[in-house]
Amino acid sequence: MSESAGQRVGEPASRRVGEWGELEARYTSGVYVKRPLVVVRGEGARVWDAQGRAYIDCVGGHGVANVGHCHPQVVAAIQEQAERLITCPESFYNDRRAELQAELVRMAPPGLERVFLCNSGAEAVEAAIKFARLATGRPGIVAAKNGFHGRTLGALSATWRSEYRQPFEPLLPGFVHVPYNDAGALDEAIGEDTAAVILEVVQGEGGVIVGDGDTLRRAQTLCHERGALFIVDEVQTGFGRTGRLFACQHHGLEPDLLCLAKAIAGGIPMGAVLIGPRVGRLPGKGHGSTFGGNPLACAAALAAMRVIEEEALPQRAAELGAFFLSRLRQVASPLIREVRGLGLMVGIELKRKVQPYLEALMERGVLALAAGPIVMRFLPPLVISREELETVVRAVQEVLST
Ligand SMILES: *Cc1c(COP(=O)(O)O)cnc(C)c1O
Repeated sequence: MSESAGQRVGEPASRRVGEWGELEARYTSGVYVKRPLVVVRGEGARVWDAQGRAYIDCVGGHGVANVGHCHPQVVAAIQEQAERLITCPESFYNDRRAELQAELVRMAPPGLERVFLCNSGAEAVEAAIKFARLATGRPGIVAAKNGFHGRTLGALSATWRSEYRQPFEPLLPGFVHVPYNDAGALDEAIGEDTAAVILEVVQGEGGVIVGDGDTLRRAQTLCHERGALFIVDEVQTGFGRTGRLFACQHHGLEPDLLCLAKAIAGGIPMGAVLIGPRVGRLPGKGHGSTFGGNPLACAAALAAMRVIEEEALPQRAAELGAFFLSRLRQVASPLIREVRGLGLMVGIELKRKVQPYLEALMERGVLALAAGPIVMRFLPPLVISREELETVVRAVQEVLST
């Protein structure tokens, strides 16, 4: 334990970003809107700034840190693998990669039997779109309004919000967006040219909008009836976040292509597409990635999978998520329109812009993120304690009642 591990949560955040913040601000691309906080260390559900102040981290690396920051088993696996083999392209076989692929298939919803590994969520979506077009010979992709699937040009074409899309148009042809949770609109949109439907089980960036099981199952059935593939994007909902290992399991979904990333490797960059039999054999040279399936990320992912199972994190997310939601629903504030979520993926829709309230939470030692302009989102590490969640609820109560 380091000297500041016992740092009290709730001390005011500095408005000064210090030398590191100033240095980064001078050289960074500018595409990120940054908060005035230099995060230098993490452990479990907490991070520390350069002055040694502690924060309860409900940003969780945007839903990456499910097993907690610097989980000792993940750290040990990275250290051990780094001394053996860091890089090895998929033109060779590798021990860690073989183990991970088998492990992912074992844990996955039924029907998924093969694995493509890459390095991010957008890459997983990009691959799934290409696989769907390869497998069906059709161009069309049906996605949902408010959906978010990443920022590369293919994934961006499936993403909804115009602020992400508009500066980069024209995007890929063949994409249409239907209202989320609307079976009738899906029925109309899925046709002979449709390669795939792509949906999130809970829309994350779009505002923590919980998917309706009947509609999601209907999307799957329509895909089966009409020769299209069903892509589920669990980049954010996967690996225990919603109270099941995969959010698909809440509704008995069996996607043809399952996109994963964020929490998959305990914080190391990795993405994956799990592939079902309706996709058929993919042709050699059909797609690829230099870093995809590198042994270092595979070792980290294996360790993260083990932690998720051993510490029963999906069940923990279900229990703590139910507790957190019910406590947040007791917060009396005229600013709140709705509290919603699934497991430890939780949103508070406000009647105002959320940004000032995120800053006020940070002053109180709690980091949360936005999901669109008016939704306050919480994606804490699933190892967070009940007491830490209580502290978060108190901070939310304070900032929303002032
Ligand atoms: C974050 C996210 C992505 C994009 O992942 P990156 O790793 O940032 O490319 C795609 N889909 C969903 C649902 C996400 O939440």
